[in-house]
Amino acid sequence: MAEAPLFKRVTLIGIGLIGSSLARVMQRENLAGEIVVSTRSEQTLKRAIELGLCNRGTMDAGEAARDADLVIICTPMGAYEAIGKHIAPFLKEGAIVSDVGSVKMPVFETLAPQLPDHVHLVPGHPVAGTEHSGPDAGFPELFKGRWTILTPAEGADDSAVEKVKELWLRAEAKVEVMDAGHHDQVLAITSHLPHLIAYTIVGTATDLGDDLQKEVIQFSASGFRDFTRIAASDPTMWRDIFLTNKEAVLEVLGRFDEDLTELKRAIRKGDGNTLFEHFTRTRAIRRGVVDAQQDDVPAPLGAIPGPYSNDD
Ligand code: NAP
Repeated sequence: MAEAPLFKRVTLIGIGLIGSSLARVMQRENLAGEIVVSTRSEQTLKRAIELGLCNRGTMDAGEAARDADLVIICTPMGAYEAIGKHIAPFLKEGAIVSDVGSVKMPVFETLAPQLPDHVHLVPGHPVAGTEHSGPDAGFPELFKGRWTILTPAEGADDSAVEKVKELWLRAEAKVEVMDAGHHDQVLAITSHLPHLIAYTIVGTATDLGDDLQKEVIQFSASGFRDFTRIAASDPTMWRDIFLTNKEAVLEVLGRFDEDLTELKRAIRKGDGNTLFEHFTRTRAIRRGVVDAQQDDVPAPLGAIPGPYSNDD
């Protein structure tokens, strides 16, 4: 006899890169008896239905969440408060509410206060992504070998956390449970700062004179090309990340500023030792990242990265 699905009814609110990848995983693994999808635009809903990503689709998030065992919010975080208000009256007793947002403290500040006491909130963040958006961009292997971090509040219902964990394990993700504030600090340095730097460098290049700009694009085979890929990430999502993880990002930016000033001084003074020592230390970090299997291929710098190397 076939194994019963992990959830009878799963509602996905938002069906872009992450939501549609999750839908594909749930279909492949038979994790949901029924998948209901809700999204903001008719066009995306129509496309999700055409792609066969759900059993049912509706523009009304409340209607979609009615009687669901698991509701996963897969929209930009700026929409959480409104979505929470809208779905709250439709959530059944014991339902699990989760999300995939890239910053976790805001879930407790904007979404949690809208939800009724009879639901279990288990926030999550798949640290996996690409620079592409929308339901066509998703694929079921997106989460394979990548971390998903769950940040339930202290005292959260164990069996709800276990069920969400099981979902991500079936997506072939590695799962870690962490405090939301700690998650936001870690991600500020590993993901948010690098994105800000990429946005800055590519922005600086766009402001160069016409001739120089042409050559930057023509000869972008080195590190710059990787920055352009990161800087092509979704503007709405990244606006929300910087607005919601403001303090942790400003904290690491302060440290970055100090280190940059030190390197600037070393260059100005011709202090090769400082530069060499710094670059030797960072080289060791790179080895640690490869050893921890956090990069698909230990490729030389400037090489084209794999399809899932935008770990947002
Ligand atoms: P996406 O491909 O752009 O899809 C976003 C989905 O949310 C679409 O269905 C969109 O609907 C819907 N949506 C957008 N604004 C909305 C609003 N104001 N109200 C209701 N629905 C709205 O985005 P994504 O890359 O899947 O990202 C979704 C979430 O995953 C974000 O919170 C992000 O932080 C997180 N995340 C992303 C990545 C990544 O690499 N992309 C990685 C990890 C986590 P319409 O198309 O109908 O407008």
